[in-house]
Amino acid sequence: MLYQRSSALFAEAQNYIPGGVNSPVRAFKSVGGTPLFIKKAKGAYITDEDNRDYVDFINSWGPMILGHTHPEVLAATVEQMNNGFSFGTPTELETEIAKLITAVVPNIDMIRMVNSGTEACMSAIRLARGFTQRDKIIKFEGCYHGHSDAFLIKAGSGAATFGNPNSPGVTQGTAKDTLLARYNDIESVKKIFEENEDEIAAIIIEPIAGNMGCIVPEEGFLASLRTLCNQKGTLLIFDEVMTGFRLSLGGAQQRLGIEADIVTFGKVIGGGFPVGAFAARKEIMEHLAPLGPVYQAGTLSGNPIAMRAGYTTLNILNKDQNLYDRIDKTTEILDKEITNILSEKGIAHQTNRFGSMMSVFFTDEKVINFDDAQKANHSTFNKFFHHMLKNGIYLAPSGYETWFISDAIKTEEIDKTLTAARSFEA
Ligand SMILES: *Cc1c(COP(=O)(O)O)cnc(C)c1O
Repeated sequence: MLYQRSSALFAEAQNYIPGGVNSPVRAFKSVGGTPLFIKKAKGAYITDEDNRDYVDFINSWGPMILGHTHPEVLAATVEQMNNGFSFGTPTELETEIAKLITAVVPNIDMIRMVNSGTEACMSAIRLARGFTQRDKIIKFEGCYHGHSDAFLIKAGSGAATFGNPNSPGVTQGTAKDTLLARYNDIESVKKIFEENEDEIAAIIIEPIAGNMGCIVPEEGFLASLRTLCNQKGTLLIFDEVMTGFRLSLGGAQQRLGIEADIVTFGKVIGGGFPVGAFAARKEIMEHLAPLGPVYQAGTLSGNPIAMRAGYTTLNILNKDQNLYDRIDKTTEILDKEITNILSEKGIAHQTNRFGSMMSVFFTDEKVINFDDAQKANHSTFNKFFHHMLKNGIYLAPSGYETWFISDAIKTEEIDKTLTAARSFEA
């Protein structure tokens, strides 16, 4: 029987862990059924506790861009462990990774390491507020910037999946400083500026949105945000936790040719270990403790094992000139072929794609913001998800998530995926 041991493990886990999971979207609540309990992964495949292999299109929600258990990253990390696990002191490795990142990412001079994307975004807005001496921030409906209080207001990803994008526990005092705009709607941003003249510390945005499914900014939208920020003395924060080192070495900034004032990272930067980071020009970063008054700290920040895994991953990305073209091409093929298959079946759908990020929305309408994403047929998505899963293809268990293509996904895996899609009946 499929998912037998996963079912048993899930039942047991629910006695001890809320919902049986340590992060909500893992619970399959939106698609229903039993989440797979995974015991190992290699290359393009993950293996569940029932010993079935699946082609993995989640890749730990983005980090595993090289595929799982990449031999070079594994060897470097194991070697590092022999020297100790954590010191709570500076290490040479931290400067090495900082040098590499500031060299390849546009418009940043300095970087601070943290342990998650949540921490990175939370710290980035504190820094923006400290730097501008203003309190309010603008975020976009359906964008997800981690689970810190200021961002759990019409948030995407799991928050959107479970229908509570606004979380209880966030005080009104905090919520009032987060102003909401619509993705791809510059007028909604201008209106906020009109009503809050000189009060906006920062605009934070996913430059390619990936937490309401994949949504691409329309021509001129981000450039208009850049101009508005320049006019108003507001900092533009690109949350590149998902896009950083995935779309290119210089992330979305490089791909789109638009510079942000502060950039946040996570996911790929840690090569599968818990790492986040935020970075900016020197004049901004100098406001951080111990140089400046804006406080930020972390016991395990810059952990040597995590740094080594991240550094090795980034170096592979840096050296392999064709890697980004390759994974973009794989994603393009997947997009086109799935489009053909669903069209032939007469199933209404849209695919959105940028680089190696894509998603399928079951709708006739273009999807350019959170409202559009909500209007898509999520019950068809759920059927599609379970059909693919049964056929050995592991997609993200929600219509509000992006598929991440790794470099380990080759022709054979694409063929398996398309074969599975061909037998789908809506
Ligand atoms: C995943 C994600 C986060 C949160 O990162 P965690 O490591 O899960 O805390 C923040 N922003 C974006 C754009 C993300 O995709």
